[in-house]
Formats: sequence, structure tokens, C-alpha cells
Amino acid sequence: VTELEIPHVFAGNTLDRGEVERRDAEWLAAAPLQVNARFLPLQALKVALTEGGENTGHELRWFTLEELNTSFETQTPRLLGLQDGAPRYAVNAVNLKTPDQPPDNCTFTDVRQAAASLRAQLGWHAKNGFCAACGGPTKAGRGGQIRTCSVCESHIFPRTDPVVIMLVCDDTHCLLGQSAMRMPRMNLYSALAGFVDQGESIEEAVRREVMEEAGIRAGAVHYHSSQPWPFPSSLMIGAHAEPLTRDINFDTEEMADVSWFTRDQVRAAFAGELEFGLPGKIAIAHHLIMHWLEQE
Ligand SMILES: [Zn+2]
Repeated sequence: VTELEIPHVFAGNTLDRGEVERRDAEWLAAAPLQVNARFLPLQALKVALTEGGENTGHELRWFTLEELNTSFETQTPRLLGLQDGAPRYAVNAVNLKTPDQPPDNCTFTDVRQAAASLRAQLGWHAKNGFCAACGGPTKAGRGGQIRTCSVCESHIFPRTDPVVIMLVCDDTHCLLGQSAMRMPRMNLYSALAGFVDQGESIEEAVRREVMEEAGIRAGAVHYHSSQPWPFPSSLMIGAHAEPLTRDINFDTEEMADVSWFTRDQVRAAFAGELEFGLPGKIAIAHHLIMHWLEQE
């Protein structure tokens, strides 16, 4: 049995996104009042979790509407989707109504992984209160999936910014770099990456970025997998690229270093035996590098 695809962190939302229901205004208005509706409170990057002992796994703490209204002052809930037909919402819980009486079995915990994608959805609403076309105020529709301008009726959809991330590699070496911004401080090397330009294919973006960042000419591009990266709203498109040239001439403004590495060096870096590190499993770059190692 071959796996359908590589399950990356931040992908694999199990909720039905409710595409049909979101278009039904009556359903949307009534849905939060359904007895099976549940609400997940958030505070900054913290998510409500059930309390558990140190060794028990925490779970998301879902509130009924009544519980929610008793406990918190909240902003408009945003429909995340449906779980077995029951609407599920994320909601900014601004304040406890009675600070000396916190809700039962609830702790707000910094769960960056879970919180980031929820926060990306709530943050999108916060940043899109006005229409980019005419400046008019916008309002949310389809349970938070779109916003509509109240003046010119333009629809605004949450945007996703495509980023190509590519491991340039051949039978013996792979190309890794340190971007100038924060990787030297973290002493990390990773695959090269960059935003896809408008009107550019994935393959063209890979070749352009490899040329810009490393001065290497890339040939064939092989798609590997993709990963939603909600900081704030990127889609990482992972690929392997074949090098046509070898001499590195890297962009010193963008990159602190770009070098070729052998499989032995990469294995040693993963084992913590070298003076630099490689990305962890949370990052698609890790899986691009592992895939190359395993193809020996
Ligand atoms: Zn407008």
C-alpha cells in the first residue's frame, strides 16, 4: 500500500469545511444556536485545552454556546467546519466575565501548531476590514470564509501565498543554504526557498530562486509534497531540482552561505555531530532532505 501523500504538520484538518452550508444564509444564522454547535476559545496564540495530568494528552476544550456566553466576552465566532454535521467555531475570547470563576476543565495553552492555523483565519478578518478596491467597510460572509465590501460588493477571499522550497541535489551532493536573516544565529542550514512571482510556474520559480540565491542553473524539477505554513498564510511547495552547473555564486545580501554537502555530512548533521543543524520534522525541508538521503 502506498501512502496517498506525506502528512505534513499543519495539513490534515479533519473537519469538513462546509462548502455547501456556508452558502446558505439561513443555515449560517441558525447554526451557532444548534444544540450540537461547539466553540473553541482562543486568547492570542493560546488555545483552550482540557486539563489533564502531566502524562495525559490534552484535547481541545470545546464549549457549548451557553457555556461560552457564561464564561467569556467574545468576538464574532468563525466557522471552522463541521464535525459529523455539528458546526465548530473558533472564537476570540477577549475577557473572562468573572475572573474569580474560570470555566471548568479549561486551560489556555500555547499550542503553536494548533493555534497558528486558527489564528491565521481570525487574523485575516482583523486585517481585511476595508475593501482594497474602494476603501469601503467589509463584512464577513459564509461563516467567515469570505468578506464582502458593503459599498462595491467586491468579494475578498483569504489569500494563500505560494512559496517554492527546493532541494537541489544529484547522486552525491545536495545544496543547502543559510539565509542571512536568522539562520546564522540559529546555526541552521536548509533548502533554498522563495515566493512564487505572479505569472510564474512552480518550475520557473524554482529555477529563478536557485539562480538568484546560489548562482546555480537548475534543470528538471520534481514535485515532492506541499505544506500549509500559517505564518501567516503561505503554502510551501516542496521539490527536488537537478543542478546543471556546480559553481556557487550566492547572493550575499540574501544568503549568509550556500554550500554543497555530501550524504555523510548531512547524516552527521542530523545526528548532531556537526557544528550546524538541519530543520526538524515540522518543516517540509526536513522531508525533502530525508527523501534524498533515502534514495542512495
Ligand atoms: Zn469596495
